[in-house]
Amino acid sequence: SAKSRGKSQYQLYEESLGADRILRLELIEALRTGIRDDLVVHYQPVVNLDTGRIGGVEALVRWRRDGALVPPDLFIPAAEDSGLIVPLGQRVLQQVVADSPQLVRAAGGPIDLAVNMSAHQLHDPTFVPAVRAAVEAFGDSRLVLEMTETVLVQDDPHTATTLERLTGAGARLSIDDFGVGFSSIGYLQHLPVDVVKIDRSFVRDIDHLPRSRALVDAILVMASALDLDVVAEGIERESQADVLRMAGCSDGQGYLYARPQPLAEVLATLRDQSSLSRLSS
Ligand code: C2E
Ligand code: MG
Ligand code: MG
Ligand code: MG
Repeated sequence: SAKSRGKSQYQLYEESLGADRILRLELIEALRTGIRDDLVVHYQPVVNLDTGRIGGVEALVRWRRDGALVPPDLFIPAAEDSGLIVPLGQRVLQQVVADSPQLVRAAGGPIDLAVNMSAHQLHDPTFVPAVRAAVEAFGDSRLVLEMTETVLVQDDPHTATTLERLTGAGARLSIDDFGVGFSSIGYLQHLPVDVVKIDRSFVRDIDHLPRSRALVDAILVMASALDLDVVAEGIERESQADVLRMAGCSDGQGYLYARPQPLAEVLATLRDQSSLSRLSS
C-alpha cells in the first residue's frame, strides 16, 4: 500500500515484531490463566479419493481473539519459540479426546483422528501417557500424530525411543508436509512411520506440470514399497484429484472436499454421509 511504501524497512520490521510480541503475550496469558475456550479446534475431513468417503478428520487449532479466529500460522511459531506449544498441544489433544465420542457416533463407525504435534512435545514427560490415554479413549478409532520431517531428522536416540513408545501405545505416525523439509529420507529406514502426507506444493501443479506429477509418482512408489499410507494435501480442483487417483493415491484432503470446520459442522457432514450409506446399503 501507499502507506507502507512510505515507511522504511526497519519501521515495518519493528511493527511486525511488535505485533508478534503482543500476540505472544496474549497467548501466554490465554494459556496461563486457563482461558481455554480461546483455543478452538476445527476439523478437516480426509477422504478416500475413489469413493469420496470420509475416513478421518484432522484437528486444526484456531485462536479466538477479539471476536476473530486467528489462524495457526500466526501464533504457532511464537508458541514454538516460547515453549507454550507444549500446553497448547496438550489442550488440543484434550479437546479431540472430548470431541471423539461425538465424531465416532456421527461417522457411524471408527475413524482416524489426526492431531498435529511439535518436536517439543517429545520432551514433555506427560506426552506419552496422554497419547496412551487418548488411544484407549478412541477404541477402534485411530489416533494419528502428524509431525514434520524436522522432528524426525533430529538424529538423537531420545526421539527414536519416544516415537517407538508412541507407536507402541497404538498411535500412528504421519509425516506432514512430506517432501518440503529439504531433509534426507533416511529416517524412513529406522523410524516407525505409518503415513506420508504429500505437501500441498506438489499437489498444486500436478494437473499441469509434468515435473510435479513425476515427483508425486516417485513418492507413491516409495510409499508403496515401504508399505506407507498416503494422503495428498491441498486438493482444490477436480483435475488434481483425477491425476492423483490415476497415480494411485488413496486418500486426500483439501478445499475441494471440505474446509476445516467447527465441530458442529463436521458432525453434520459425517452424519449426512453415514445416513446416505445406510440408505444405499
Ligand atoms: P498442516 O497440518 O499441514 O494443515 C494443513 C493446512 O492446510 C491447514 O491450514 C488447512 O486449513 C490448509 N488447507 C487444507 N486444505 C487446503 C486447500 O485445499 N488449499 C489450501 N490453500 N489450504 C488448505 P491451517 O489450519 O491454517 O494450519 C496451518 C498449520 O498450522 C498446520 O499445517 C499445522 O502445521 C499447524 N497447526 C495447526 N493446528 C496445530 C496444532 O494443534 N498443533 C501444532 N503443533 N500445529 C498445528
Ligand atoms: Mg497436519
Ligand atoms: Mg500439511
Ligand atoms: Mg503445514
